[in-house]
Amino acid sequence: MGIVLGIDLGTTNSCMAVVDPSTGQARVLPNREGERTTPSVVGFDASGKVTVGSTAHRQAVLHPRETIFGVKRLIGRRFSDPAVQKLMKLLPYEVVSDPAGNAAVRVHGQVMSPAEVSSHVLRCLKESAEAQLGQPVEGAVITVPAYFDEVQRQETKAAGQRAGLTVHRLINEPTAAMLASRFDESRPENIAVFDLGGGTFDISLLHVEDEVVQVLSTCGDNFLGGDNFDELVVEALRRIFLKQTGVDLTGNPEALWRLKDSAESTKRTLSELDQTSIDLAYLAATPQGPLHLSIPSFSRTLLENLVARELERLRAPCEQALQDAGLTVKDIHRVILVGGMTRMPAVRTRAEQYLGHPGERSVNPDEAVAMGAALEADIVTGTSPEMPKVLLLDVLSRSLGIRTEGGRFSVLIPRNTTIPARETKVFATTFDQQTHVDIEVYQGEAPTVDGNRYLGELQLAGLPAAAAGSVRVAVDFTIDADGILHVTAREPATGRKAEATLRPPTASSP
Ligand code: AMP
Repeated sequence: MGIVLGIDLGTTNSCMAVVDPSTGQARVLPNREGERTTPSVVGFDASGKVTVGSTAHRQAVLHPRETIFGVKRLIGRRFSDPAVQKLMKLLPYEVVSDPAGNAAVRVHGQVMSPAEVSSHVLRCLKESAEAQLGQPVEGAVITVPAYFDEVQRQETKAAGQRAGLTVHRLINEPTAAMLASRFDESRPENIAVFDLGGGTFDISLLHVEDEVVQVLSTCGDNFLGGDNFDELVVEALRRIFLKQTGVDLTGNPEALWRLKDSAESTKRTLSELDQTSIDLAYLAATPQGPLHLSIPSFSRTLLENLVARELERLRAPCEQALQDAGLTVKDIHRVILVGGMTRMPAVRTRAEQYLGHPGERSVNPDEAVAMGAALEADIVTGTSPEMPKVLLLDVLSRSLGIRTEGGRFSVLIPRNTTIPARETKVFATTFDQQTHVDIEVYQGEAPTVDGNRYLGELQLAGLPAAAAGSVRVAVDFTIDADGILHVTAREPATGRKAEATLRPPTASSP
């Protein structure tokens, strides 16, 4: 088998690592430009040329509509999803609906799925690794946010396959981070992984005992990350510029992109310093000449005030994760900080406040997830013989169930159930002379199916015609280690059976 990489396919940045077979240690592979992380940005020019990473990021100033970033927030979502509708207003590029109603992007008139955009990032990483290692890269273990649903996982897998990678496994980012930090535990421990990246916040509580890592609960916010912090700073800069010059930069994508760049680097600087200055020359042009933005002092306190609400948003998922796992802060033994945003002092303070321990950062927070994915790749492929065979027990990110009378959602396997899992529930016919039942499968937490994700359906026909409620149908859900759901419906009296393997709908199926 060729090389199998560990890849952290991030909202803002991606990172890859590989295990050195002689030492069993994971190491980060830099990209062709020598960077240890690669911006998840893809640029398209009119001739069809594609650029990835920092090169694409640099062209964004001139071509904001042709430079696609942050597609991880769109992947596997419907166009009508309120989150997509909200995001669209903030993005400088065009978000559209594909013919099947899924969120997609349009560049130079061409509609592309988020998976296709991501595949360019993955291919770039694959090719960089091959150039460096002098060997073909065969596959990857790719990480996903802990509570990505089945569709988002499937689309991430599709992105890998499109890039020519065999996706050996998708693992949850916090689980990967925990693997990278330490996993030869001699005593049982509860570990909180607090992961604040560019676009998502995940908090996961893990239990480690006898080389078994069990995810007790996962919670988070798909729409909370460094990008939100940057947007608030951009908005403040826009207002300051308006006050200084009387010119509103709304509707000027080039200027807004420069503000975003400046906001991000200001935020990073303020993780180290108490204050910094901002100078952006030629930010806008007027008939009277060019206009510049100059802020001699921008303080850490000002930044913390601007993002106070976002910092507060970190609290509820921490509390929910503790509640779901049946733990209190006293039961937590250690906290691992992951994601570039955990370098911000105010974020670290919140993590400690909500989880009761100062966060440890034994591995670089930007690289921990990729390193853990590389270790998992090594376990899956059995490359290093002396590698401890850590058994990864994962949990279901969203409840699985079926539609019942009145559009209600009846849960068969609740979220946070350790997978693989199996559950059977018996349902009765709902009207007289009913000879078939349609079993519609959904995933989510809403009490009615309208609020949940449709995964597919199967029909059990040939039921004995009888009075409502007198014919019973046993519905069995089995979810395997890769998160693929197998559904069986059986009528015990006649032994009639219908089966389906439900894969989430892909971009090409409605
Ligand atoms: P990740 O998704 O883990 O790559 O995290 C990316 C996010 O971390 C972006 O929003 C970055 O602006 C942010 N970030 C990276 N380094 C720092 C830093 N030193 N201080 C504050 N935020 C940072």
